[in-house]
Amino acid sequence: MTSPSASAPEVVTRFAPSPTGFLHIGGARTALFNWLYARRHNGRFLVRVEDTDRERSTDEAVKAIFDGLSWLGLFADEEPVFQFSRADRHREVANILLESGHAYRDFLSAEETGALRDAAKAEGRTFESPWRDRTPTVDDLSKPHTVRFRRPADAPVVVEDAVQGTVRWESSSLDDLVILRSDGAPTYNLAVVVDDHDMGVTHVIRGDDHLNNAARQSLIYDALGWTRPTFAHIPLIHGPDGAKLSKRHGAQAVHEYAEMGYLPEAMRNYLARLGWAHGDDELFSDAQAVEWFDLTGVGRAPARLDFDKLAHVNAHWIRMADDDRLAKLTLDVHLAREHALGPDDEARLLRAMPFVKDRAKTTLELADQTAFVLKPRPLAMEGKGRELLAGESGERIGRLRDRLSLFESWDVFALEAELKIFAEEEAVGFGKIGPAARTALTGGSASPDIAKTLAALGREESLGRLNDALQQTI
Ligand code: GLU
Repeated sequence: MTSPSASAPEVVTRFAPSPTGFLHIGGARTALFNWLYARRHNGRFLVRVEDTDRERSTDEAVKAIFDGLSWLGLFADEEPVFQFSRADRHREVANILLESGHAYRDFLSAEETGALRDAAKAEGRTFESPWRDRTPTVDDLSKPHTVRFRRPADAPVVVEDAVQGTVRWESSSLDDLVILRSDGAPTYNLAVVVDDHDMGVTHVIRGDDHLNNAARQSLIYDALGWTRPTFAHIPLIHGPDGAKLSKRHGAQAVHEYAEMGYLPEAMRNYLARLGWAHGDDELFSDAQAVEWFDLTGVGRAPARLDFDKLAHVNAHWIRMADDDRLAKLTLDVHLAREHALGPDDEARLLRAMPFVKDRAKTTLELADQTAFVLKPRPLAMEGKGRELLAGESGERIGRLRDRLSLFESWDVFALEAELKIFAEEEAVGFGKIGPAARTALTGGSASPDIAKTLAALGREESLGRLNDALQQTI
């Protein structure tokens, strides 16, 4: 049996960043939507670096964008295309448009253009160059000139946008766009159309700040007799207060979210929900997102960043993550905090993970909650700690140490049972043991309950710390 989509053309999407800065969270979401859509339809997801603005494009920005995409796990299915390297092809297409009469050479100087544009504006007209209807002489052709696209006479431009619906522009509201500058450099809208066409892009999913470009680009597709792609213009991301996202709302770059301790799968889950919905589902895997993603689920209102929700989603993915991986990520945080590592530290972090991962919203919190395992012996004992270990309660910790030093099966359940027996023998509630034991074992840092703390530290370290503490308080 063949499915109805078997004969449909392959879906090809692309992410087309301009490398002028880091990978912005809005760009990351655009990339994600394109990636999801391609995966959903067994298509291809491509990346094109729009580096035609030579002054603003930098190699560092190219690197930052690819680093951000690979951190997010959004890999292109083919080598990236660099737009600047395709300038000859863009000029070739400009020539095709010249030959077919869909473009013309404009010999006005910048000053003349400015003056005519001002005059047109004053009269409420759209600017038009007199060269639109003039045939240049051979002499003219040797002079510097731009090439302009000739917009078709007064028919409206209609774009069927998969998110915005039917959008119309009066053709008279669009002027004749420059497609080649006087130095022969192709301009943005020409380059995008040629590249999308040559790359076989079927769906252009991008921010709605490009909606007007869709009108101009559609006219170029039509003039060339090329099939337009499906356009889907997604509303931009706003800050929690509903205002356009800006620095004052906090982190904007993807790498900042990595540094704040978010997991890439949590970012994918959260960003997918930012502007797109599948019923009330908030927590879902990549496989579910791929299965469900559709442009009909993209809303028309700007999505608002919600840091509480992001933390909630991240906490979920931390709980779901492998302890091994979390231990490595947490180790990186400790290293970034310039913690010098001891030989057993990695193993202790790994042992601690199951006890802390249910309570952490970020890997930074995992690091805070595991700091106790990395403290070098002997632990500093503050005045209050000394008090907790003085007198009767100190003697009890001595008996606990003696008991544990005879205890071999150092796993959390056995330790829990052993501590319970110890409390019964001492005829005290655990409240009389816990604070002093924690002080001895961690110097007073946050830690899980005592059996877990002992299990995470391991036998030798636990007994060593208990001994150190007892010696300091003698
Ligand atoms: N390079 C454009 C940008 O970074 C995107 C162009 C497009 O997606 O068509 O905003």
